[in-house]
Amino acid sequence: MNHFEYLQPTDLAEASRLLGDGPDEAMIFAGGTDMLSLLKDDVVAPRKLINIKGIPGLDDIRYTPGNGLVLGPLVTIRAIKENPTIREHYPVLAEAADVLASPQLRNLGTLGGNLCQRPRCWYFRGDFDCLRKGGATCYALEGRNKYHCIIGGHPCVIVHPSDMAVALLALDAKVTIYTPEETRQIPLNEFFVRPAEDYEREHVLKPGEIMSRIEVPAPPSGMLSGYRKFMERAVWDFAVVSVAAVFTRSGDRITGGRVSFGGVAPVPWQDEAFNRKLSGLRLTKRSVTDACKTLLSGAEPLSENAFKLPLARNLTGSLLLELAGVPL
Ligand SMILES: Cc1cc2nc3c(=O)[nH]c(=O)nc-3n(C[C@H](O)[C@H](O)[C@H](O)COP(=O)(O)OP(=O)(O)OC[C@H]3O[C@@H](n4cnc5c(N)ncnc54)[C@H](O)[C@@H]3O)c2cc1C
Ligand code: SF4
Repeated sequence: MNHFEYLQPTDLAEASRLLGDGPDEAMIFAGGTDMLSLLKDDVVAPRKLINIKGIPGLDDIRYTPGNGLVLGPLVTIRAIKENPTIREHYPVLAEAADVLASPQLRNLGTLGGNLCQRPRCWYFRGDFDCLRKGGATCYALEGRNKYHCIIGGHPCVIVHPSDMAVALLALDAKVTIYTPEETRQIPLNEFFVRPAEDYEREHVLKPGEIMSRIEVPAPPSGMLSGYRKFMERAVWDFAVVSVAAVFTRSGDRITGGRVSFGGVAPVPWQDEAFNRKLSGLRLTKRSVTDACKTLLSGAEPLSENAFKLPLARNLTGSLLLELAGVPL
């Protein structure tokens, strides 16, 4: 691990100034659960770590009926899991937090850190000078790729590791980005960067920019939502495939909604064509199963992960039916 300065600004302007020219100079330290392993594995080597936990107001959770939910980036995963308002109005968010990592990591890990964490690809975390680390080759393409993506990859086939991002995407969340010059808000799906655009970074934040808020719209009346995550171990594990579903219904039909996926793509993923089909879909086992057969139809699985496609389709079908109370 390299030597670094450890700085504790007390406002966003100071934090942004300290971040300087980018990750070689300085990086944000929130809960540190990802940052410490990145440092120990020499994946990153900033000269300064900027601990933002001394900045007031960044761990607020505010819910206003009709307006929705505002979360600070330092809200912990545990706080999301346990917050009664989130559990009541946004079950999908609480359920994603509930199955994330382990109690220790949920106590420390923050929402901002979770959305900005680096990929878990074992070549990237190991001693491989792969494409994402400035090298010339993606080792996973021809190598061990069971946990890599099946859609939207190339030239780098990572999956995005964040559970919270998948739930927030289904909820149509927005992210606020702070710089001293301007504060801008963008939809969460524009926050993540696909490898075809830039395979060396996962999000749009530029040097000096800080994620300062996450906003979730007010839930429409009668909204149903849930999160299902397939893991190889019961705890302390990333999603092999995960699905978040958010929808409204009238009688036995869906009136509108959205499904999003983790573990299948380099960014939290939505199948827009499938989401359009959700409006009007009958909530019967036959209709839902048939609709799910078309999910992720552009998928191009790698040598070891073709199993992810039926897994994603089955998880989605069973989640939609379960939320609607239709026997499986
Ligand atoms: C064993 C293990 C299992 C895990 N399992 C899961 C899992 O199942 N699901 C899952 O989703 N995650 C999982 N994680 C990841 C963990 O949840 C995240 O590491 C945690 O939420 C990150 O939060 P943090 O506050 O610790 O981030 P940090 O480690 O402090 O930071 C992570 C990254 O985010 C950047 N960052 C932090 N805050 C901001 C901000 N406000 N603006 C801009 N950049 C910022 C940092 O610079 C850094 O690059 C696991 C991690 C481990 C070690
Ligand atoms: S998937 Fe991406 S991070 Fe993994 S080896 Fe290939 S280029 Fe590197």
